[in-house]
Amino acid sequence: MTRVALVTGGTRGIGHAISLELKAAGYKVAATYAGNDEAAAAFSKETGIATYKWSVADYDECVAGLAKVEADLGPIDVLVNNAGITRDAMLHKLTPVQWREVISTNLDSMFNMCQPIIAGMRDRGFGRIINISSINGQKGQMGQTNYSAAKAGVIGFTKALAQEVARKGVTVNCIAPGYINTEMVAAVPEKVLESIIASIPVGRLGTGEEIAHCVKFLADDKSGFITGATITANGAQYIAG
Ligand code: NDP
Repeated sequence: MTRVALVTGGTRGIGHAISLELKAAGYKVAATYAGNDEAAAAFSKETGIATYKWSVADYDECVAGLAKVEADLGPIDVLVNNAGITRDAMLHKLTPVQWREVISTNLDSMFNMCQPIIAGMRDRGFGRIINISSINGQKGQMGQTNYSAAKAGVIGFTKALAQEVARKGVTVNCIAPGYINTEMVAAVPEKVLESIIASIPVGRLGTGEEIAHCVKFLADDKSGFITGATITANGAQYIAG
């Protein structure tokens, strides 16, 4: 049986690597994105993976988008909630818009994407939900109260939903990446990035492929006893208890 996987923000960065890894593992993959049509078109051309454009921050768009993906590919077995953004500023300079955008995209999206399809997963007795949190949701990061709050919220959401669906064959887990060499991190000023790399015991940024490897592991049919967990992949930059 070919399983269907949906990766939000699956056209760029870490999501790009996840989409490719799942396709290589034999999944039928759908990748969503928010607005960068050019990147999505290049991704589709390169990989042959279908792309869908909607905002994970909008519940109604998620309901409609998920219905379209399921009509095209079949019921979603594996949902990877990867889409995320940063809008960094110290709290005394952070605007309500920056706060709301990050909470909507990174945390409301958990509800918006999971709620419409969780009943189907329960009924079918199988599902894998994999949420991408962050090292900064575990340890907190100066200049990222919005992002740290949202990513910590992702971990709480994961633990609660994992318990709700545990008896239904559905697992819900988190991955908390450290600093990964994507465009999101390229936006960090060079001096700051140098000091970040100096604080990573492994001595380098991580790669999207290393996060994709964790996703493939959690998505596997044989990973059914792992649920409510957070896999930390950060080069020992922060060792969560
Ligand atoms: P990128 O900025 O490289 O890619 C983000 C992807 O998410 C793009 O495909 C983008 O679409 C999509 N996206 C953004 N907003 C929305 C939205 N509202 N609706 C749907 N899709 C959206 O990010 P990364 O690959 O670096 O990050 C991926 C995830 O990993 C995020 O959740 C991030 O917080 C997390 N993370 C990243 C780390 C890193 O070091 N890079 C570290 C820890 C966690 P479009 O192309 O249209 O803009």
